[in-house]
Amino acid sequence: MLFFIIWIICIPLIIWIVLRIISRRKAGEEVDPGVQLEECALCHEEFPMNALLEKEVGGYSRVYCFCGNCIEQLRSEYQAKVEQSDGGNQQISESTNG
Ligand SMILES: [Zn+2]
Repeated sequence: MLFFIIWIICIPLIIWIVLRIISRRKAGEEVDPGVQLEECALCHEEFPMNALLEKEVGGYSRVYCFCGNCIEQLRSEYQAKVEQSDGGNQQISESTNG
């Protein structure tokens, strides 16, 4: 009988302790700022996700993140290359015309 009484007191106590541990963990997660840092695939600097562009690269469904600076750099490199090749094409077309 005594064991039964102790058991009845213990079960809610154990449940209460477990719930407290769970709620503490949840509270801890909420306190943690939700800013998830992700590494840029090109410069390997860490940025928050909203400052990165996610792109699936290659045939392995691997997602890479690219930061604005690297995208801007790629764009200017591409621009320089396109302008260079455009210049070359113009020279060729001019020579064929003339
Ligand atoms: Zn970068």
